[in-house]
Amino acid sequence: MIAQNIAEIRSRMEAAAIAAGRDPKEILLCAATKMNDASRVREAIAAGIDCCGENRVQELVTKQAQGAYEGAPVHFIGRLQTNKVRQVVGAVDLIQSVDRLALLECIEKEAAKKQLVQDILLEINIAQEESKAGFTEAEIMEIAQKMEVFPHCHLCGLMAIPPVSKNKGENCRFFEKIRRLSVDIMAKKQHNITMGILSMGMTDDFEDAIACGSTMIRVGTAIFGMRDYNKTN
Ligand SMILES: *Cc1c(COP(=O)(O)O)cnc(C)c1O
Repeated sequence: MIAQNIAEIRSRMEAAAIAAGRDPKEILLCAATKMNDASRVREAIAAGIDCCGENRVQELVTKQAQGAYEGAPVHFIGRLQTNKVRQVVGAVDLIQSVDRLALLECIEKEAAKKQLVQDILLEINIAQEESKAGFTEAEIMEIAQKMEVFPHCHLCGLMAIPPVSKNKGENCRFFEKIRRLSVDIMAKKQHNITMGILSMGMTDDFEDAIACGSTMIRVGTAIFGMRDYNKTN
């Protein structure tokens, strides 16, 4: 089931890329693995996803100890409390959800202590929703211009979670805004920045995201099926 779902997503990704005149190889599939156990994560890796995205530190640590992510990079994509930064820095390939300055500073400190450089994305609150974390466009511009203050963090791009959308095309204006912002940042050629990754698009809107320049979609439901929030495991 999982393998079949992934094959279907891959062909939809490819069609969306080609329709947009893009090379399908430019777009990575990140499996949002929350609430799926190690064996299901392994199944997804075997079926050829590009990376795993985990939301909760406890779940990450547990599944990592079970060897769940062997053969694929693992990213942190959830809200990260500063008191848990120690467990994540150096343990994941990419922290996608850097959503506030205090968190960035904390990651910098921890990476310095561990003498490593942590790859990160900045999370943008693109629709300026009260309920969501993330920086404003202006804040992202500002941080991008002073990444030399964070020498143990390597800024690889942007991540966004736009409003839930069931109608095709609804989130395109947000995706396009993010892509333009990324182009603006890249044009400045700052120290410590690569900006190759635009992590946007989920189960309901990944084709639109690809049309608007996404280089990494994060997909949970379409791979693993609906999550059962009543189940405790
Ligand atoms: C769960 C999750 C996703 C995937 O959501 P689906 O709609 O199930 O594809 C993507 N990004 C983040 C940050 C998530 O927490």
